[in-house]
Amino acid sequence: NPFARAQYSLAAHTLRQLPADGGFEVAFAGRSNAGKSSALNALCQQNALARVSKTPGRTQQLVFFGIPPHPDKYLVDLPGYGYAKVPQDLQAHWQAFIDAYFASRFALRGLVVVMDVRHPLKDYDRQMLGYAMRRGLPAHALLTKADKLGRGAAGNTLQAVRAELARAFADSVSVQLFSAESRQGVDELRATVAGWLEL
Ligand code: GDP
Repeated sequence: NPFARAQYSLAAHTLRQLPADGGFEVAFAGRSNAGKSSALNALCQQNALARVSKTPGRTQQLVFFGIPPHPDKYLVDLPGYGYAKVPQDLQAHWQAFIDAYFASRFALRGLVVVMDVRHPLKDYDRQMLGYAMRRGLPAHALLTKADKLGRGAAGNTLQAVRAELARAFADSVSVQLFSAESRQGVDELRATVAGWLEL
């Protein structure tokens, strides 16, 4: 597992705080509570890696996890969106920051959008996928908490989401079932992200 040694590197809330833009990174987005932290932890086989993203003050920042021994490769945890309590000026700041990050970041090689398999493709998910598509960036839709559905229902959701993504985003978006609980799909996620990062 190339991510086993991943570790917290830095958190940024302005473009100037980002690491030098000369490497490779993959961003993770998702609505609050979708299961993004659990997916990152499962990817890296660590129990508490993404906990740092949830500490007070970090919820509006881009959190960078380095991947030793590669000094210029990162997993980037984007702020979980959908927090009802975030004040409007912060929402606006977040929006502008994410806009600018997607528009200008050379190092960005791919986007993983984490969605609860029971509530896929909400507005914000589509917005993030739209950012990636406009950039010509590949995206991967992770339908997590698959253990919460029976096999048949999970399979039906996978087919429906795949069809909808093909309609809306052509073939730049791949999709899979995932569960941090049962570890279903961990290898597939790892292969996709490692491929983008050239690990
Ligand atoms: P985040 O806000 O997107 O980072 O979501 P978390 O990873 O913190 O997960 C939110 C809640 O969903 C927590 O209670 C997790 O234990 C639970 N959860 C996350 N992934 C899974 C999963 O694959 N299966 C199940 N059953 N629960 C999950």
